[in-house]
Amino acid sequence: MTNERRQTRQIFVGKVPVGGGAPITVQSMTITKTADVEGTLQQIYALAAAGCDIVRCTCNETEAAEGLAQIVPRSPVPIIADIHHQYRMALAAMEAGVHGLRLNPGNIRKPEHIKAVAMEARDRKIPIRIGVNGGSLDPALYEKWGGIKPEAMVESAQQEMRYFEEVGFDLIKISVKASNVPLMVEAYRQLSEVTDVPLHLGVTEAGPPPAGLVKATAGIATLLLEGIGDTIRYSLTADPVEEARAGRQLLEALGLRERKNVDLIACPSCGRAEIDVIDVAKRAMEAFGDRKIPLQVAVMGCVVNGPGEAREADLGIAAGNKRGHLFVKGRNVAVVPESEMVEALVEWAEFIHEHGTEAAIARVDTEKAEREAAKDRAQLMDDKGVDANHAAEKIVEIRKKTSA
Ligand code: SF4
Repeated sequence: MTNERRQTRQIFVGKVPVGGGAPITVQSMTITKTADVEGTLQQIYALAAAGCDIVRCTCNETEAAEGLAQIVPRSPVPIIADIHHQYRMALAAMEAGVHGLRLNPGNIRKPEHIKAVAMEARDRKIPIRIGVNGGSLDPALYEKWGGIKPEAMVESAQQEMRYFEEVGFDLIKISVKASNVPLMVEAYRQLSEVTDVPLHLGVTEAGPPPAGLVKATAGIATLLLEGIGDTIRYSLTADPVEEARAGRQLLEALGLRERKNVDLIACPSCGRAEIDVIDVAKRAMEAFGDRKIPLQVAVMGCVVNGPGEAREADLGIAAGNKRGHLFVKGRNVAVVPESEMVEALVEWAEFIHEHGTEAAIARVDTEKAEREAAKDRAQLMDDKGVDANHAAEKIVEIRKKTSA
């Protein structure tokens, strides 16, 4: 397995480069009626705030195309029109000023229609994604290959590409999505062997989270780690903002995009925990929301081990004796009441983001904070002892049972 990117050509969706060594981009799709201009724009802004680079809107009727004419100039990110069945909607969307199109070769099949769209896109320099979908594969290819096979999906994309080439159009991206993860992974692998056009990755109809997130991540991450993929979309049965967040988080986790928001880490909790770690971590996630604070922040269940275990984090909080012990890069900096832990985390994160770690440490008496932490640590050790999880007692019981 390699993390070396496969070389692809570069195209532009509006001002956003895709392929050719450009940062991998996150896409999502609005679920409003595109004719509802204000509602759609609201969703586009929310998606952009969550880290989405490119947004797709359906263009399924004249009113939708008219909506796009108003949406595109006001959108903070490039807009792609999603087209199924009606090639005329592709022409209308281009007229509306969209930055890209997605065509499904499975349901716009007449060569003259495909070429009419490609010629218009060529003249306007608008890129098109050939969006093959396992579920709506061209029936002739389904027949030829005996079902939805990776080979059938690749052939569908190649067939469409040939129509495009015949009219001299090459601003292309391709996707070969399926809801079956191994099938989609194999289709993309085969596709990446036969073309250097940028690839848009996705597991289609992945379903609601958390299962949908797992499926989409399994497929997309596998390919990204093989160097395949230039832009990604999570297709979740959920608020599209969740799709954008997931896409962004995956790229950050794989080191493929710089961190933009807080990376919240939390201990798994154990018998030593002094707080409900899950609840505090959840509240901290909500408090940070989509704030652009690119720090790693830790929520740790106890001050006995927390600051040490999370010493790599930029900032963290550990509970002890109804108090929260804040630490910066493993150094204790302040003590706050347990009820103010989340607010304190946000305030410190904002300060560090603005002024840096050194300034944060310089503004407090770290020795005092360390003395307080040591006090609570000692108290907890007295209360719970070294073996807070009672492992030793359990081991004795286990031995009794297994030796009987
Ligand atoms: S020892 Fe403390 S920090 Fe580590 S998992 Fe348990 S509660 Fe969390």
